[in-house]
Formats: sequence, C-alpha cells, structure tokens
Amino acid sequence: MQYHVDGELVDRENATVSVDDRGFRYGDAAFETCRAYGGEVFAWDRHLERLERTCATLGMEGVVPEDIADRVDETLAANDLEDAYVRVSISRGVQPGKLTPQSEVDPTVVVYAKPLPRGGVDGKAVWEDPAVVQSVKTRRVPDAALPADAKTHNYLNGILARLELRRATNEGYRPDEALMRDTDGNLAEGATSNLFFVDDGVLKTPAEGSLLPGITREVVMEIAEAEEFPVEEGRYAVDDLRTADEAFLTNTTWEVRPVESVDGIAVGGGPMTELLGRLYSRRVEERCY
Ligand code: PMP
Repeated sequence: MQYHVDGELVDRENATVSVDDRGFRYGDAAFETCRAYGGEVFAWDRHLERLERTCATLGMEGVVPEDIADRVDETLAANDLEDAYVRVSISRGVQPGKLTPQSEVDPTVVVYAKPLPRGGVDGKAVWEDPAVVQSVKTRRVPDAALPADAKTHNYLNGILARLELRRATNEGYRPDEALMRDTDGNLAEGATSNLFFVDDGVLKTPAEGSLLPGITREVVMEIAEAEEFPVEEGRYAVDDLRTADEAFLTNTTWEVRPVESVDGIAVGGGPMTELLGRLYSRRVEERCY
C-alpha cells in the first residue's frame, strides 16, 4: 500500500509522522472518513465542507490543501483501488511542546486508503449482521466542552464507550455498537454512527447538539423527505428506541445498518429501514458508478 503524506505518495512502511506532531501529542487534528465507489468519493463536497469546518473550529482555517481531491485520487490510483475506505487527516503539524498552538501552521496531511467491497445497487454491505447495540454509561461530551460537529482525532469519548461493550460481552451476547446519551440522558448517537428509529411510520433521529452530524445521516434524511416520509428530529429516551418498530444506524462505511437489538431487547430493521437502505444504494449507484 501507498499513502499520501504531506503531498507525496510513500510506501506504507515509510508513511510516518513525527513524535512532535500535535496530532499524535494531543489529538490536535481534523479528519474525514470517506468512501470511494468505482473510484469516485461519494458526497466529497460534504466531506470537504465538514473537514474545513472542523479545521476552522480548531482555529486553523485555510490549512486544507487546494489539491486535496487530487491527493485522494492519486492514493486510490497508486493502490489500484476503486471501491475503498479513504481517510483524510490534517493535523496542526509539528510545533514546540507547548499546549498553546502557534498561529503559523504547517499541517501534516495524510491520505490513507484500504479496499472495501463494491457498493451501490449490486453491492455488498461491509457489515455481516445487523448491529447489536448496548447503551453505555459514558456520556457524549457536551457540545459546550468540545463542539460536537467537529470531527477531530480525539476519539477517547467513543473509545471509552466501546470499551464498556467488553464488559457487557459474554458467549451469547456480543454488542458491537455503544449507544451514547447526552449529559441529560437523551439519546445522542453511537460511538461511530448516527441513530434512527421508526415509530408509527415516523422516522425519528436525535436532534443536533450532542452528536456528530453525519453525512450519511444527512443524505438519509434528504432521501426520506424526498419520499415524503415524516421525519422528526427531537429528544428521545433509550426506552423510545427499545420500543421502536424499527431502528438503524448510519455511517459512511456501514451506510444503513439495521439494529438487531438494544440492551438485549429485539428491535430489528423493517420496511422503512430496508427501503432507505435501497434508496441510499441507488443514490450511490447513480452518483458514482
Ligand atoms: N457519529 C460519530 C461519533 C462518528 O464517528 C461517525 C463516523 N464519522 C458518525 C456519527 C457518522 O458520520 P458519517 O455518516 O459522516 O460517517
């Protein structure tokens, strides 16, 4: 494999960053996980916009290189990849070991890729089974502490949530996504996914505030609105989810993934989950293949 590091393609073993890099030292970096289908990154403009927004939140406007899309294309081409996971990371770069960032930024820019199955209408989901979801004690970091719409390298909140799953795991029960609430106890999102559920024909999803506004979430909501499905963003309790008719998670790699159970209580996908998954795949097919 070859990765793009600071404007150059390098072999995997030479793709390294400095120990003085603030991305390593503090998680002081922005990133995007994208998905390429047939060599085309789906919803690239939205990913780029979110990346720029995260960089602005971190006080480093203008660090996204102008040729970033070319670097992504070059990384895919160098690895002969058409259907791939693509990760773009921009850290504040190497600076002296002080917490206060310097205003001059020489960012470290990395593009990483790995193969994924074909997506679209005849595609194969990356997940084997529907998600087994377990609610955790770890609360989503409040927006007032760390802006929830910034996608930074600091994933400790989600990592702590996922670690809790280990303790809940036994031979017959293997949760694979952590359900996080906000500090008021309202549903927020999964450790790396957004949450939807269906109740009496209404598609419901936790409102923005304590969650990362996912690009898949945005696309799924647009599709649902175009189909004239009632969509509601609101504040919900774990019980609303456990008693829902259907539930699913979204993220760039999973796309639309049904929820098998929440805290051991069966929920499952259903007709709306299936339809939205199909329409999402159709959109991928139209835009990328
Ligand atoms: N929430 C969190 C915390 C995430 O890490 C992700 C994955 N980026 C998502 C939601 C889903 O976002 P997207 O649909 O943009 O992949």
